[in-house]
Amino acid sequence: MHDNPESIAFFATSDFSGLVRGRGVPVRNLPAFLESGCGWVPADQALTAFDVIGEGNPFGASGDLRLMPDPATEVRIVDDAGRPPWHFFLADIQTLDGDPWSCCARFFLKSALADLEERFGLGLSVAFEHEFTLLGDPAPAPGFSMRAFRREESTVTAIITALRAARVPPEMVLPEFGQSQFEIPLSPAPALTAADRAVVFREVVRDVAERLGRRATFAPKVRPEAVGNGVHIHFSFVDSKGRPVTYDAEGPGELSAPAAAFAAGVLRHADALAALTAPSVVSYLRLKPHHWAAAFACLGRQNREATIRICPSTRTGRDPAAGHHLEYRAADATASPYLALGALVRAGIAGLEENLPAPPLVDTDPADLDPAACERLGVRPLPGDLAAALDALAADKVAMGWAAPDFWACYLAMKRSEWAGLADYDHVALCDAYARVY
Ligand code: GLU
Ligand code: MG
Repeated sequence: MHDNPESIAFFATSDFSGLVRGRGVPVRNLPAFLESGCGWVPADQALTAFDVIGEGNPFGASGDLRLMPDPATEVRIVDDAGRPPWHFFLADIQTLDGDPWSCCARFFLKSALADLEERFGLGLSVAFEHEFTLLGDPAPAPGFSMRAFRREESTVTAIITALRAARVPPEMVLPEFGQSQFEIPLSPAPALTAADRAVVFREVVRDVAERLGRRATFAPKVRPEAVGNGVHIHFSFVDSKGRPVTYDAEGPGELSAPAAAFAAGVLRHADALAALTAPSVVSYLRLKPHHWAAAFACLGRQNREATIRICPSTRTGRDPAAGHHLEYRAADATASPYLALGALVRAGIAGLEENLPAPPLVDTDPADLDPAACERLGVRPLPGDLAAALDALAADKVAMGWAAPDFWACYLAMKRSEWAGLADYDHVALCDAYARVY
């Protein structure tokens, strides 16, 4: 089938708000646009999820940039709904000189991954696991039930079909604990590919639901009392030959020394990280104790209340090193996958730089520990709201070194505007506002 010569390819960036914005170019001129990119504006990065330009951002009305599509990320989906093909590329943001822009979220991740590889010889394999809610379910069905699955099977199958067309391979489908809540874990991939796929995944799920007259949302809470929608980032390390190096039978939690140091770095910077991985006002309605949402900075084996869970592989005669990995649980889909994963890698590198020892293993619910045990195990609650998380980020001198000053000035200005703009919202209104956008 030939494209309509007037069809459009979209150059897309996942920005600081975690939303995907960009511009369309005529497919008839695509070869030229692939070379030159298209224009873009710095102040976009200062837009909140509610389209308010963050007050005090460093850009104002001036400046010009290029959105440079990465040909490897091309997606073209033709569905049967009589719509034009959905054709897009994920883009990097460059200056007019062709350098990476200091505030490009994808570059933030790329440069962290390059450091991890160049300085420590480590590659990262990553799988994003998203939960989302299909709104407007006619009747409740039990959590995890086949009935819940069967009721939404046609929608979920359409989603899976579109994901395959978008080259985002799903691993399985889970009816989740919450009403009309689903999870579709993605297969592990090299970290940048995994983050690209997470960006595409959210767009595809929302688009397919909309095409079927439904609404899918990744908002961390759809109602104050609802089960939260988390994003779990599973990761493991490989050496320069691609061999798994997360496992060591003798290490605490069977973690290798580099995996343990990385985890210790993540926990040391967990408060600052929260501002990037749980980056919205509503994130903190989810990040509560006893909700499997990981409200405490700690490391635990198979512990779903820990910020980092050690996930062992099955013990059925397979090499235990192959599946052994870590899971960062304090993230949600209001975060750009590039910022969340990039910050995780930067915090891990900080741990590797100091060769930090393995953090104590916490194998109970950290909320049930008394203060003395918390002290002994180094367990502390993550920030209680977005304002506290942003203050922790701004106060973390190491974190402030992970990107250029205008990156942080823009991010903090945008997020503080988001916080201020929602100050009068009660919890129901907050959930509604985010569910409409994410
Ligand atoms: N829904 C939980 C969250 O908000 C996670 C449950 C699970 O472990 O799958 O993160
Ligand atoms: Mg889940």
